Amino acid sequence: MAYSLGDGLRPGCLADASDEAQFAELDTLGELGRRARAAGVQTIIEGPGHVPFDQIEANMKRQQAVCDGAPFYVLGPVVTDVFPGHDHITSAMGALAAAYHGASFLCYVTPAEHLGLPTPQDVKAGCITYKIAAHAADVARKLPGARDWDDAMADARGSLDWKRQFELAFDGDAARTIRHRDLKEEGDYCSMCGRQWCAVRISREVTEKIVAQQEGGRSSPST
Ligand code: SF4
Repeated sequence: MAYSLGDGLRPGCLADASDEAQFAELDTLGELGRRARAAGVQTIIEGPGHVPFDQIEANMKRQQAVCDGAPFYVLGPVVTDVFPGHDHITSAMGALAAAYHGASFLCYVTPAEHLGLPTPQDVKAGCITYKIAAHAADVARKLPGARDWDDAMADARGSLDWKRQFELAFDGDAARTIRHRDLKEEGDYCSMCGRQWCAVRISREVTEKIVAQQEGGRSSPST
């Protein structure tokens, strides 16, 4: 078993962040964590929910020092208070910073935060937004294998392999729906630049021509 040590004095708005009450409670959580570990029980420590972006790194470092590196989970944090209806995004920005600076667990937030109970669609939006933050942090922290997924997508984009892009996409249905919204047929471009200006298509064609010329030059008899 493990204790999850929650925080009741966590900031509920940017103005509360990093105040005396929050840090006094963090000291108590650190002490409770030490007592639990001394009794052979693991702990996870809960962290703040509203913190300006520039204070997140210091909050994470303070927790790691006060709680002897115990796993820390954060509720976002929300980095601005003025976008209700979009707090899955305001909080995922903070979650990315927190994860990059050492958070072990991200508690997702939905668009309904501060407003009402979430619908299944709100839950889906929150989970996907937090998956983005978590994966981006894994890549930035250079966790083994985290970048492989992105590199595979880059290869699929470079070869205009749409089927492979949809397979690799975390939400392949959403990607496929948008691609086919304006473009009904399969093609070596998308509707963003159009076929004439598709830089990926043009680069591929130029590369193929250069390679063909080089191979032709190598195979022709020297005079
Ligand atoms: S049309 Fe533009 S956005 Fe679309 S694949 Fe080509 S370069 Fe990329």
